[in-house]
Amino acid sequence: MRQPIIAANWKMNMDLKSSREYVLKLKGLCSPQKELVLICPPFTMLHLVGQLLAGSPFVLGGQDVFWQESGSYTGEISPTMLREVGCQWVIVGHSERRRILHETDEMISKKVEAALKNGLRVIVCVGETLEERDRGEGPARLRTQVEAALALLGPERSVDVVVAYEPVWAIGTGKAASVEDAVAAARLIRETIAAKWGSEPAESVRVLYGGSVNPTNAAGFARARDIDGTLVGGASLNPSEFSRIVQAWQG
Ligand code: PEP
Repeated sequence: MRQPIIAANWKMNMDLKSSREYVLKLKGLCSPQKELVLICPPFTMLHLVGQLLAGSPFVLGGQDVFWQESGSYTGEISPTMLREVGCQWVIVGHSERRRILHETDEMISKKVEAALKNGLRVIVCVGETLEERDRGEGPARLRTQVEAALALLGPERSVDVVVAYEPVWAIGTGKAASVEDAVAAARLIRETIAAKWGSEPAESVRVLYGGSVNPTNAAGFARARDIDGTLVGGASLNPSEFSRIVQAWQG
């Protein structure tokens, strides 16, 4: 049985005051049970949010990481720095970083490897653009991204690495993928992993769906056997909405 993951990606939102209010409110609204609930604030809020979450069942994650340990890499954050402020997880390869900051598949595979090597668990994001989808290239793009993301890893990492299917056309648009399309993508991702690692490790990898998930559509994704949770952007900024999404996975 794969443990579901519901992850809040705050992106470049919130400040110290609103982060504090958010965490206090969220803790009163829901309590993670069997599922893993991750909060991923911007770097400057990690320390505070980590302290506020300490001793609670919520878990802290970063939104990005660099692949080097230390050195002349202005503006970057190392895996050990994330660990030091209490992160157990990190998101890698979000489409906003691929698109706006030109992160390549090769950079993403180095980040995934470095994060795992330093004791973080990873949610790696994959997903096709609208143009790729319209040209019928979605499945091929997904395969390439998954193969690249896992290129430097062996099957023993199957429980530490999670793949989030996030179609670019669904992120922040209010137009979520249908459950059927998300399930088809999740199956394709798992088949791609099975071709590399074999079917048993592929069955252990969790595959999330992300893209305009909200309290209304969450239950449909939560009921789908092939989808092991969700990465939430916009709706995660509101603790009431986010707690209702968590509750969708609690049945
Ligand atoms: C995301 O950015 O990972 C995301 C899923 O955003 P949203 O929920 O706003 O579509």
